[in-house]
Amino acid sequence: DEETNNYIISSKSVSDNFKPRDPFSHKGNYGKVALIGGSYGKIGSISLSTRAALKIGAGIVFTIAPNCGYSILQTLAPEAMFISGGDEKLITEIKISTEKTTIGIGPGLGKEKLTKVALEELLKSIQTPAVLDADALNIISENKSMLNLIPKNSIITPHPVEFARLFGDSKDSLEQCELAREMAKKYNIIIVLKGHRTAVLTPEGKCYYNITGNAGMAKGGSGDILTGMITGLLAQGYSPQIAAQLGVYIHGKAGDYAAKKYSQEAMTAQDIIHRLPEVFLNIK
Ligand code: AMP
Ligand code: MG
Repeated sequence: DEETNNYIISSKSVSDNFKPRDPFSHKGNYGKVALIGGSYGKIGSISLSTRAALKIGAGIVFTIAPNCGYSILQTLAPEAMFISGGDEKLITEIKISTEKTTIGIGPGLGKEKLTKVALEELLKSIQTPAVLDADALNIISENKSMLNLIPKNSIITPHPVEFARLFGDSKDSLEQCELAREMAKKYNIIIVLKGHRTAVLTPEGKCYYNITGNAGMAKGGSGDILTGMITGLLAQGYSPQIAAQLGVYIHGKAGDYAAKKYSQEAMTAQDIIHRLPEVFLNIK
């Protein structure tokens, strides 16, 4: 409520903010995304992000990954275009015009020195909000001054451990959420603090709790999918705050449909992507 500045992301707020596709539209109306990440042995992460961005409705999707990911990505996500990250096993350069492209970076990225330099260069060149997750955040944790390079109104999506690496320890999840509220204000960013009840903290000090999702999502890959979804929504013209709220709600809802069909135990992260159709077909 307004006194505490805490809110719940309701299905009504989601349907109110949701923009149905215009019959006369073309792919250019739904944004250009670049998902950047992956390293040898972690191409799966960035392929999940890529597929999630496509499946959330983005118009054009690029993946920037190491060359060892070329065949894997072109096979797992034929709708996306591949751009070389400069080296066989890790990302050493990021060649994309950041003006018209919405960037999501981090899943499977690794923390090699050359990758850190490439991330630093990228952040210096971006003028518009981006999505930062996973190893992009872990690199920043090891070089805290990079926090100031994050473009304003960007969205960062740490799980509690990544958050603690960035901003220090808290005694419990409530205290961590309050610290996140302070950091969102301080750095002018949106913090998606992931967990059973993911919290979206805004630069104005508001907290939006998500109540969709289940423990079947407590598995590797779930977060990579959220990154792709939020980046894809941002590219489609939703504001960063709305993209973050819609993203966590839709991600959790798709996870709930996956659990209903496959069980919490047997569902895997990919099944979250596969259940997105039910979510969209049920947004009124
Ligand atoms: P990551 O740790 O980066 O893979 O992210 C995990 C994702 O799964 C986040 O979006 C979490 O909110 C979600 N998740 C993990 N565990 C649960 C849970 N017990 N209940 C609901 N969502 C969860
Ligand atoms: Mg993650």
